[in-house]
Amino acid sequence: MKIYVVGIGPGSLDHMTPYAKAAIEKSDVVVGYTVYVELVREMTRGKEVLSTPMKKEVDRCKIALDAALENKTVAFVCSGDAGVYGMAGIMIQVAKDHPEVEIEVVPGITAACSGAALLGAPLIHDFSIISLSDLLTPWDLIMKRVKLAAEADMSIVLYNPKSKKRRDYIDKAVDAILEFRSPDTPSGYVKMIGREGEMTKICKLTDLKDNDDIDMFTTVFIGNSTTEIINGRIVTPRGYKNV
Ligand code: SAH
Repeated sequence: MKIYVVGIGPGSLDHMTPYAKAAIEKSDVVVGYTVYVELVREMTRGKEVLSTPMKKEVDRCKIALDAALENKTVAFVCSGDAGVYGMAGIMIQVAKDHPEVEIEVVPGITAACSGAALLGAPLIHDFSIISLSDLLTPWDLIMKRVKLAAEADMSIVLYNPKSKKRRDYIDKAVDAILEFRSPDTPSGYVKMIGREGEMTKICKLTDLKDNDDIDMFTTVFIGNSTTEIINGRIVTPRGYKNV
């Protein structure tokens, strides 16, 4: 009667924590969005696998809960970290009337951290992660957060920067940031981190607009007013003197 909500990291098994691997190994059932279950396929042999399409989050939680109530140990897998736009919160909510089911949240490397590592060190100081998906958050509130993060001179990471239905959201976010930051601000994006087709690009803030590379599998990084590019890597200084 246990559910591990497991953050599997960005993609490759090498980026998964040993604790996350152990949680999957200990489980009888693996539940998750089809793409994520596929990423851990090597580890699911001999286990019951229950995958569901995207946007069926509550159903997926109910499937995990039902399996746990059958006295099974369940690994509910999500990409990156389980608690960053992941399934940890909704799983706890769906299971709230079943305190007998133990829920353990297993952290993973979120795309902000795995992507930042590929670009250099864009987030070394205060930063803000904002999702541009308005499926669950009103667009006005998203734009308010983008503007305030820009005004507060935080480095900014954008998740869900674009989808088929939301092609110009990243352009609108960049326009809002340009009110407070130079068009040349060192920026970048990383696509399919740890997966086949991984791609890393360093550019300036305005290059993020009308950019066909950027899609829903991309994480976007925007430096603060002190961010620089050193030998092809993005660095936000922490303020050490004499370097
Ligand atoms: N829980 C996940 C985030 C899910 S929201 C995490 O902690 O990383 C989905 C968004 O995350 C995507 O639109 C993209 O912006 C980002 N993302 C997740 N995995 C990624 C990967 N492997 N490569 C690039 N971006 C990724």
